[in-house]
Amino acid sequence: MIFGHLALSALEHRYLDADLVPVMVAGLAPDLVDKTACQILRATPSGRMWGHTLIGLALSTLLIDLLWGKRAARSWALGYLGHLLGDLNGLLPWFYPFVSYDFKPSPSIWRVLRDFLRNPVRLSGEIALTIWAIVAVWDEAVHIRVSKIQESR
Ligand SMILES: [Zn+2]
Repeated sequence: MIFGHLALSALEHRYLDADLVPVMVAGLAPDLVDKTACQILRATPSGRMWGHTLIGLALSTLLIDLLWGKRAARSWALGYLGHLLGDLNGLLPWFYPFVSYDFKPSPSIWRVLRDFLRNPVRLSGEIALTIWAIVAVWDEAVHIRVSKIQESR
């Protein structure tokens, strides 16, 4: 779910030196593409299609590299890959369209949310991941602030 993906991106920012904006946007990008196409536009049968493929990762990273350079592209790739790894709980069409997949029709967003809230293992895992990310980013912010105060003395 969205908080888990954001938490993974925040942890990549904190521990893998990823730039904040590209890693956070990339952490949501696969769902922004595929959930919009499926749930809102009803243009695709599944909420995990083009955005959840290695070709989606490669092409979007190449585009970011062309627009904003290597560091932003590295951060984007980390966030995007983090999203895909966070979605390992279900079908991921890594090699689509080169491999055919049996795309099941996606349930509504409300059904997905209800099922998620009724799954204590997934829910507690996402809460724990989110708390870890908040603590890690908070800790980083405190260290930066302390460093600036010490430099000004
Ligand atoms: Zn996803």
